[in-house]
Amino acid sequence: MKYISLLGATGSIGMQTLDVIKSHPDMFELVAFSSGKNIELTRKIIQEFRPQLVSVAEKKDYEQLKQIFPDICFSYGLDGLIEAAVFDKADILVNAVIGSVGLHPTLQAIEAGKVIAIANKETLVTAGHIVMDAAAKYNVPVLPVDSEHSAIFQCLQGENPKNIERLIITASGGSFRDLSRKELEQVTVDDALNHPNWSMGAKITIDSATMMNKGLEVIEAHWLFGLPYEKIDVLLHKESIIHSMVEFHDSSVIAQLGTPDMRIPIQYALSFPERLAAANGKKLDLAAIGKLHFQPMDLERFRCLHFAFEAGKAGGTLPTVLNAANEVAVQKFLNQEISFLQIEDLIEKALNSHQNILNPSLEVIQEIDLETRKRVSTLL
Ligand code: NDP
Ligand code: MG
Repeated sequence: MKYISLLGATGSIGMQTLDVIKSHPDMFELVAFSSGKNIELTRKIIQEFRPQLVSVAEKKDYEQLKQIFPDICFSYGLDGLIEAAVFDKADILVNAVIGSVGLHPTLQAIEAGKVIAIANKETLVTAGHIVMDAAAKYNVPVLPVDSEHSAIFQCLQGENPKNIERLIITASGGSFRDLSRKELEQVTVDDALNHPNWSMGAKITIDSATMMNKGLEVIEAHWLFGLPYEKIDVLLHKESIIHSMVEFHDSSVIAQLGTPDMRIPIQYALSFPERLAAANGKKLDLAAIGKLHFQPMDLERFRCLHFAFEAGKAGGTLPTVLNAANEVAVQKFLNQEISFLQIEDLIEKALNSHQNILNPSLEVIQEIDLETRKRVSTLL
């Protein structure tokens, strides 16, 4: 039995993690979870899973839940997230919150010796060097949940990392892959939220449309697999069947394929090194699919991917600025305060007006993260 603490249980990855836990009750048990403001769903999850500890975003919800479920421990805010992350009964932390708010809980869980299953890519983008150093120091595995990184991780089983020539991260292209830059001027929030292959939370769906999601994934791959950016490529593959590939020195390429269903990589992170029956029971039917398509990635068309490569290569605090500026800009787009193309304009301005600080400490990262969030609001 593996005991699980889940941050972001009410989100897209969170709910799919609960599905995986539910479909293998003899293997997994939810002992703690956190949610944000969706209290109705929080109550349903408590009733169904009966965890020992639950953390919510706001104090008023915490007060209310304590009355309703007197036999369960509650907490709230960032302290609550951390409490859930380090809960002593848990072996594994699944971090499925959105944004760099996931950084502190992850670091604390590493120090507490928890296995980390990470969906929360913003944490690795904003402070990858600190997270991976801590994981090495405390000898804690950081297992990928993101489908591309799970694919690479699976392709690398039994391989010597020294033999890697390059990683090939596949990209579906998001909601607007077939639109020209001119056509992008007019797109709406609803258009952007309509992803062709995956059903995901709002922020990552916008990130997929701007291609920032792929940019964040490039930086995530750099940290998870310890490879330089020159060895990380992105390939457009609209079917989302090949989740990513690894090319080796002998020119062999190993790929991982599957139906586009996040429960498969989530489950692999939880069951690793074992494999369990798929929660959805669906098999990949290549004969029915017939053809798979590939196209080179155009970094002029997808400027956010270009920014991410540049920020990643430069290192220091630039990835923190990239991530914080993106989080703010995407929220502004979702609130209909800015247009779609203004997302990348804001990120570009934030990056260009930042004086990079190399080898930043955790304190410096937090400071730059906050400062960038304030600055982006004034850049409009
Ligand atoms: P969602 O927006 O669907 O869910 C986010 C979760 O985090 C919710 O439970 C939300 O709570 C909670 N949350 C949000 N803000 C806070 C906060 N300030 N404090 C505490 N909790 C908070 O996101 P996704 O599930 O789509 O994505 C989660 C992470 O996984 C992201 O980093 C994303 O990039 C990554 N990812 C997602 C994939 C997907 O298919 N969705 C695929 C690969 C990676 P509430 O709703 O209750 O307010
Ligand atoms: Mg992904």
